[in-house]
Amino acid sequence: MTRTPLDVLNPATEEIVATVPAATAEDIDAAVRRAARAQRGWAAVAPADRARLLRCFADTVDGHLEELARLEVREAGHLIAAARWEAGNVRDLLLYAAGGAERLNGAQLPAPGGFSVTFHEPLGVVGVIAPWNFPMPIAAWGTAPALAAGNAVVLKPAETTPLTALRLAELALEAGLPEGLFQVVPGEGSVAGRALVDHPDVAKIVFTGSTRTGREVMERCAARVTPVTLELGGKSPSIVFADADLPRALDPFSFLDNSGQDCCARTRILVQRSVHEECAALLTDALGAVVVGDPLDEKTQMGPLISRRQLERVQGLVPPAAPGIRGTAPTGPGFWFPPTVLTGEAADSAAATEEIFGPVAVLLPFTDEQDAVRLANATPYGLAGSVWTRDLGRALRVSGAVRAGNLSVNSHSAVRYWTPFGGYKQSGLGRELGPDALTAFTETKTVFISTEGSAP
Ligand code: NAD
Repeated sequence: MTRTPLDVLNPATEEIVATVPAATAEDIDAAVRRAARAQRGWAAVAPADRARLLRCFADTVDGHLEELARLEVREAGHLIAAARWEAGNVRDLLLYAAGGAERLNGAQLPAPGGFSVTFHEPLGVVGVIAPWNFPMPIAAWGTAPALAAGNAVVLKPAETTPLTALRLAELALEAGLPEGLFQVVPGEGSVAGRALVDHPDVAKIVFTGSTRTGREVMERCAARVTPVTLELGGKSPSIVFADADLPRALDPFSFLDNSGQDCCARTRILVQRSVHEECAALLTDALGAVVVGDPLDEKTQMGPLISRRQLERVQGLVPPAAPGIRGTAPTGPGFWFPPTVLTGEAADSAAATEEIFGPVAVLLPFTDEQDAVRLANATPYGLAGSVWTRDLGRALRVSGAVRAGNLSVNSHSAVRYWTPFGGYKQSGLGRELGPDALTAFTETKTVFISTEGSAP
């Protein structure tokens, strides 16, 4: 089969950065076979030695931090400071997962006439399918714990952002990981992604991407009863009560980070009606001050969108005439969209309920706590959210009532590699990260050992 090359564009300039071959189904099959061979050897490596090799991988990533960050700026348009953090996050995930290899303990359970012990055995070959919005961290979320637990990984990055993942695979080899254990195979989702999901020797799929594709991946996994973890879309609320620290609560980077291409972006700003005008005024000042432009300039606060396709999607959901508060964006080459808060949307409009994945939020008023919770839950998603109030009891009540996997009180933070992450409802299935990340890449085996018998 012929391989159609993938052109990787710099989203800030539209220049071609690189062209990489797109994998065919046959390429995926070959990669999975190589991975299966490598995995058998890797599973036999003592946990402490596996951990040592993963720490070497982390050190190698650390030694190439600036190179990886600059590559991420070129292929994804991320701000240079953010891209440095992302490369550092890969290093930290590898170190954290390495420790997990040494602590993958089973249990010992009492049983009449003997006892039972449990073992966490690796699954085999894990397929990781990553999106373009955080190419490095999300690749590592699945890969690091899967490797630490004794699996091999075949990673399919997004069509638009294969370069940092390809470089990470080279660094893994440089660090001494066995050939074939961690392979990166760029390609079209409809070809390479599907072939990975359908492959009979892939023991688990970790998919991060849109809810629409996630649903298809889950259906295909069902055909072989393949376990699947899904990290999907979001439309997360920021619930701002009148007693909150309003300037902090209205921080526009809660939805502008990564140009809004963040599944946890707080894109529904729900504010108590009594402070609605004050909040709108704060957002007007804040959006007017956002510096949008060259991601390599350290003073820039927001870069471009990933692609023309994404820009057109955002433009389709946010027409220029829609009432709102707007900042500015460069004109000319690059995929630019200004920071925007829509102020005239009905709570059930497309812009207020669908994931836009651009620098756009909606401002919606609520009357009281009950109304705030009702509005917060009025989407098919349940990934993240923030609750802003000085009333601790209310903060806890509302956190309990909002159906989402990752909430923060008086903060907009969401993802830490040492805490579990994942979504309710159509935002996903399963959890990644946190202390239990490795067990998601194992089968638990119980062995009963009888103590009965006569003394020799
Ligand atoms: P997407 O679903 O189009 O693609 C994601 C990945 O799936 C890509 O690698 C793509 O090539 C592949 N793919 C596409 N079709 C496939 C198929 N039929 N079979 C197998 N693989 C296929 O999503 P995207 O546009 O790249 O990413 C943006 C989306 O990801 C957003 O909706 C965002 O919310 C979501 N996201 C979620 C999280 C999370 O943790 N919940 C994190 C980041 C991004």
